[in-house]
Amino acid sequence: MIRSPRGVEDILPSQVSQYQWIEKEASSLFSLYGYEEVRTPIFERAELFLRSLGEETDAGKQMYIFQDKKGRRLALRPEATAPVVRAYLQHNLYGKTREWRVYYLGSMFRYERPQAGRYREFRQIGIEAIGEGSPYLDVEIIEMAHQFFKRVGLDKVELQLNSIGCRKCRPFYEEKLKEYLKKNMDRLCPTCQRRYQYNVLRVLDCKNENCQLVIREAPWIGEYLCEDCSSHFQSVKEGLKALGIKFQINPHLVRGLDYYTRTIFEIISPVLGAQNAICSGGRYDDLIEELGGPSVPAMGFAMGVERVLLALREEKKGIPYKRLPLIYIATLGREGWRAGYELANLLRLKEIRVQLNTSKRKLSSQLSFAAKRGIRWVMILGEEEVKKRRVILRDMNSGTQKELEWEKLEENIEEIKS
Ligand SMILES: [Zn+2]
Ligand SMILES: [Zn+2]
Repeated sequence: MIRSPRGVEDILPSQVSQYQWIEKEASSLFSLYGYEEVRTPIFERAELFLRSLGEETDAGKQMYIFQDKKGRRLALRPEATAPVVRAYLQHNLYGKTREWRVYYLGSMFRYERPQAGRYREFRQIGIEAIGEGSPYLDVEIIEMAHQFFKRVGLDKVELQLNSIGCRKCRPFYEEKLKEYLKKNMDRLCPTCQRRYQYNVLRVLDCKNENCQLVIREAPWIGEYLCEDCSSHFQSVKEGLKALGIKFQINPHLVRGLDYYTRTIFEIISPVLGAQNAICSGGRYDDLIEELGGPSVPAMGFAMGVERVLLALREEKKGIPYKRLPLIYIATLGREGWRAGYELANLLRLKEIRVQLNTSKRKLSSQLSFAAKRGIRWVMILGEEEVKKRRVILRDMNSGTQKELEWEKLEENIEEIKS
């Protein structure tokens, strides 16, 4: 038997319904805020991600890169912000409206060590708002993420907030941080010693205990923000307070990707343990320019669907939406099947999920199939019933049954639906 590759999973029908539910909640909420769905390719030129993420970041190193038959270097998308920006530039949306608000849903790929809630193929739902630099946008985006979690019933989540400055002020802070870390280099883990070179901010969110001790005393970026960044951050905090959204300032929140500027945030679920971020995002005011476009500010966030579902299970929240058939139609003989076909279509026209028997099995084995499948209602059509234009409706939960006339099915359907 050939098994699936390590780190990827089948989503079986019972789980698909959970994904569909999350996706539906997200897309209907985001569209209420003026966002439209965009679908970009699963793979892109590797260069797009290497330039946007930085080769030395975790996400950069964990990419699936391959060559196609013409020797082009391609990558499975590890995230969707860069593809959305590429699409924005490629279709010259800057020239049309400048502003672009989109959301996306889909698989991303990273070569990581698989563990609970972390896979090599994982699904993200995210939004990108391109074209607006004002802190009002930051507030609205964070509020929208907040609304989403309220909507799906995750009420134990916490919002963490930070600002990582801009091109003007961050280099100055990075110098200060390096100065400090240099003195403590021998106490840093090997990963952080490398990060010191390529991505010094990442040292701040290292989980290693020794590194944590060093970080605790490190200079804080808040003290080095330029005037613009600092007043921007102030407005974001005030805006969130005005909307009654609780947050914590986390000076060590830096995010894993190179392109963030100013406001960054994470929504964490305390029930999840070490991998507790279920949504993260921030501004990326320079990315569009770095990818060859005009200077246009932007912001977005993404959430990991697997982690959201895991958090819902941990919080013991019921996940609605079972797509099981509501009715199984058991039939006997050719006449029974024909009548069943007619009846099934009648019910399907009323948006009722029906599975019709297509086998030549005995009634008892059809009934036991419906029971194993977890279908509550069975309609039985034998020769007798067909002749009388009647049907036996059996409640598999209680084992009771009654005979109904086809013409009067309507009344009973309402009961079945509820
Ligand atoms: Zn600044
Ligand atoms: Zn470390």
